[in-house]
Amino acid sequence: MISNELTRTRQPKSRRLPTFYPSSASVKLADGDVVGGCWRSDWYRVNGIEETNKPDFYLAMIFQLGHAVEATVVEAMKKAGIFEANNTKFYDPRYNVSGELDVVGRYRKSDNSIGYYGVEVKSVYGIGATLTITGRSRAWRGQPAVRPKPKDQNLMQTMIYIDQFSSESGGEFELEGFKLLYLPRDKPVDGRYYDISLVSIDDLSGPLLARHRADMKPSNRYALIETEGHDSYVETRFSIEEMYARFAEQKEIFSSDKAPPRPFKKFYTDDEVERLYSLGKLSKTAYTDWENNKKRPGHFLCQSYCNYRDYCYKKSGAPRLEADKLVQITEKE
Ligand code: SF4
Repeated sequence: MISNELTRTRQPKSRRLPTFYPSSASVKLADGDVVGGCWRSDWYRVNGIEETNKPDFYLAMIFQLGHAVEATVVEAMKKAGIFEANNTKFYDPRYNVSGELDVVGRYRKSDNSIGYYGVEVKSVYGIGATLTITGRSRAWRGQPAVRPKPKDQNLMQTMIYIDQFSSESGGEFELEGFKLLYLPRDKPVDGRYYDISLVSIDDLSGPLLARHRADMKPSNRYALIETEGHDSYVETRFSIEEMYARFAEQKEIFSSDKAPPRPFKKFYTDDEVERLYSLGKLSKTAYTDWENNKKRPGHFLCQSYCNYRDYCYKKSGAPRLEADKLVQITEKE
């Protein structure tokens, strides 16, 4: 009964503005790979296509646990007297983006005035916790060493919030900083937070400037990531300007009659498997499963998480042509 309750369709369905969300921000990298969310699933959503893949019990429960973690953080911030607001909304018509801040915190500055900062709460587990929180100080069982880092998609989302609530938006909308907080569901005392800010080349000096100058476009702003126990670094693979440019492109494609190209594949070809693995973009586990069991890897959204995956791709992994015309599926293969 609990499983049914968590996974059943709600009545009535909410009708929302056909906007894009910060959590689906994406960028096409220099090597042609797209990181972040999928504009194709946004296209299905804003065109009212019925979802073919509802979250199952596992995902529904993860979603609920994520909410519970966030509610716990909010409650603790309230008790500590550092809570200002939650679910603060914004809309930016230039890029058709709307969203809301999880939490806004407050603190008293040395001059006795109050400063405000945003908090985005993410709960993780298992390999997600290793990559985002703990890191791996040295290579282990064929897996390379990793520095803990925010997930690309979470970082992009946070970058948009920082920009939307910057001093340029006007004093009453301004946040001084942003904390991206990860809490492991299986070991909550071991969380980590990242202080994120947007920087251009002009904001950097010393070793940070020396390390990143060559990879930063002069007029663009990138995320500076700071966390306890690790050197700060700038994520130079994508800038906020490139994310906005892609939203602008997405807006243009959506207003034409064309279907946006699928940025991700359900199944990679043999060559793609080798290329992605050699670049460290495919996990050792997925690669071994491919080698030993012929379980063909693909993008995780198309394989497991996208709510339109059976609409977008056939079981074989071939793109479903009716989907380009937004026609409902007739054959269920
Ligand atoms: S199946 Fe993949 S390409 Fe298609 S909409 Fe979903 S995430 Fe995008």
